[in-house]
Amino acid sequence: MSDCLFCRIAAGEIPSTKVYEDGKCLAFMDIGPVVQGHVLVVPKEHFANLGGATDEIAGHLIAVARKIAVAQMKALGSAGFNVITNQGAVAGQTVGHLHFHVIPQFEGRAHKWNWDAHPYADMAEAAALAEKIRGAL
Ligand code: AMP
Ligand code: ZN
Repeated sequence: MSDCLFCRIAAGEIPSTKVYEDGKCLAFMDIGPVVQGHVLVVPKEHFANLGGATDEIAGHLIAVARKIAVAQMKALGSAGFNVITNQGAVAGQTVGHLHFHVIPQFEGRAHKWNWDAHPYADMAEAAALAEKIRGAL
């Protein structure tokens, strides 16, 4: 897509600081890192988001994200990592081309996520939601 930022980066029309490339995907440094060393993994083919991608692409991107996260630990000394994707504005997606964030986490200066739990009233509530999800698979 000619008006898509990450399609243009994948095509080399917009510069990026590349970390990895193969026939299906590209990984490059995020220009607005949550943590120094933050990498994005994107498919070369345009998919708006993970829900709209194929299993093959989703699996390949996760495999590459895992390799990059392990390389970050080896090369940068990170002790762990987060691999996330945001789907939809409601989830914080700002670029409409599928991407996984690979974010290194360092001991003593870990980036904290807002991970507040909102417990179920009871297990029947969880079971009803599970039933709905199973029905849609
Ligand atoms: P999201 O909010 O999940 O859609 O993430 C989009 C990410 O793309 C943000 O972390 C931005 O910092 C990053 N970003 C936007 N433009 C560029 C660019 N030209 N090169 C590298 N990263 C970018
Ligand atoms: Zn695109």
